Amino acid sequence: MVKVLAAVAREHHAPLRLESLQLDAPRESEILVRVVATGVCHTDIVVRDGMLPTPLPAVLGHEGAGIVEQVGSKVTKVAVGDHVVMSFNSCGQCPSCEDDAPSYCHEFFPRNFLADRPDGTSALRGDDGLVHSNFFGQSSFATHALCHQANVVKVPKDAPLTLLGPLACGVQTGAGAVFDTLKVQAGQTIAVFGCGSVGLSAVMAAKVAGARHIIAVDTNDARLDFARSVGATLTINPANTPATNAILAETGYGVDHALDTTGIAAVIRSAVESLAPRGTCGMIGAAGPGAEVVLDEVHFLSGGRRLVGIVEGGSIPDQLIPKLITLNAEGRFPFERMVTFYPFADINTAISDSETGVCIKPVLLMPER
Ligand SMILES: [Zn+2]
Ligand SMILES: [Zn+2]
Repeated sequence: MVKVLAAVAREHHAPLRLESLQLDAPRESEILVRVVATGVCHTDIVVRDGMLPTPLPAVLGHEGAGIVEQVGSKVTKVAVGDHVVMSFNSCGQCPSCEDDAPSYCHEFFPRNFLADRPDGTSALRGDDGLVHSNFFGQSSFATHALCHQANVVKVPKDAPLTLLGPLACGVQTGAGAVFDTLKVQAGQTIAVFGCGSVGLSAVMAAKVAGARHIIAVDTNDARLDFARSVGATLTINPANTPATNAILAETGYGVDHALDTTGIAAVIRSAVESLAPRGTCGMIGAAGPGAEVVLDEVHFLSGGRRLVGIVEGGSIPDQLIPKLITLNAEGRFPFERMVTFYPFADINTAISDSETGVCIKPVLLMPER
């Protein structure tokens, strides 16, 4: 049993509350991590606001970075003292997991959003009773977290650990979409719709891939300036210029790849209409349950265009995250420029700054022991 300081979501739309809780010792296949820092992802905010059926009270957080403090008897992947990040969880035995596609795990939803162990137990409790744990197989808004072999990723000890949490979800989602799903090649063209941390990560990855045109679309001019500084070759503010027209004017036939990070139906349609024949549009942004997208059927069919849903980049965290760390060390993937650090105690400020666009990617620093 470990005493932890955790940010607990007790009511929808309400600030998280810092509380002292008890965390179970790791079971045989669990890993106890002392969290050093954790990113805040848009999904944490969506869950806090009740848009997904995660039970409360719960400890959210799913971009944890830290140091392994204890491992269960069956854990072989990491050892005490290893530096790790914690990514999304998966079951390891469904057809997707067996095919090395863990982000499409058939149990993705229960393993990540139901915030309990598969047997229904929770590892956290406070004075008022049970608190749901195991959100994304971690619940990293706490000074310690329990994770699993499926979602722990060992990182080099000379990498800047406090910075690495966002690689576990937001940055992985944007960069992985470019590298692992769209497989953007040198000389190809891409348009990225939405310049939050996911979209900007996609822009940086497209530059690494050697894309010829990297077109960033957003209604926030400051974000467009940022996109240009990390590799966008053209930026479009659709409040001033229809994005599809500008993309067709720049590229002639349209782009080879488009990526929607907004989840807005009209933006997805615009992204698809910006595609060249045989181009692919990836959908990353999640709309609410039951949302529909309308496409021009003849345009879509006659060009052999594709539209594909993407979760967590479609990536394998054990492969992509070390690759991103190497690219960052080489100065080719400057994701640290998106990060603003906050003390853990200021978690609610960090969340509201992220919602209002004051910061791009908040990272919470845990108190020193
Ligand atoms: Zn699975
Ligand atoms: Zn996330």
